[in-house]
Amino acid sequence: VSKLDLVAFDADDTLWHNLIHFDAAEKRFGEMFSHHLPFDEGVKSLMDAEKRNIKLYGFGVKSFTLSMIETAIDVTGGEVDAATIQKLIAMGRDMLDHDIELLPHVEDTLKALHGEHRLLLITKGDLHHQERKVLASGLAHYFEGIEIVSDKKPATYHKICKRHGSDTSRTLMAGNSIRSDVLPMIEAGGYGVYVPFDILWDHEHEEVSSETPRFFETQDIRGVADVVLRLTK
Ligand SMILES: [Mg+2]
Repeated sequence: VSKLDLVAFDADDTLWHNLIHFDAAEKRFGEMFSHHLPFDEGVKSLMDAEKRNIKLYGFGVKSFTLSMIETAIDVTGGEVDAATIQKLIAMGRDMLDHDIELLPHVEDTLKALHGEHRLLLITKGDLHHQERKVLASGLAHYFEGIEIVSDKKPATYHKICKRHGSDTSRTLMAGNSIRSDVLPMIEAGGYGVYVPFDILWDHEHEEVSSETPRFFETQDIRGVADVVLRLTK
């Protein structure tokens, strides 16, 4: 019996670009308010608001847009005008509407794995936006299940695996976030594969010991297929 049944992938910054859009918007925000406060402080105020608001608003662009508006009001001492607020809303709308840019080797890797294994896509964020991205990516047909969740905890992974008639001990989760994709899956008894992305989202940073059982790290997504091979031999 194979040690592996389900092979799950994170989406944002594992299958396609995502952070570059947040990064660009943060920088633009810093520039827009640089006559009120130094660029770096403007960016930092926005990132602090994002972090604070995740608890209430969850992840995603709509939450980010509210954080931009809130920070604009704060850093201008309530003086920000409607035209500027309009600009921030337009920035958020552009982020929701951008084209999907797949990361290198993603399609080939999914193509190679999908005949042999049941693949899942597990992503968190705005339901509506994530659904649109999955559709626009053209990758949906590789996945037996597409799971859009509000958070990625060990219990989340247990629930998803059960729903697909399996369990975490025979599941591998690959993604660019150690905190969301790798560690909770390992804690749930599964395999975690860290696929680093060059800009790591500040909120998600976490260290992992190389001694951690069932932990793998690869150069890029092609390495996931190698891990799968090792675990199925
Ligand atoms: Mg990700």
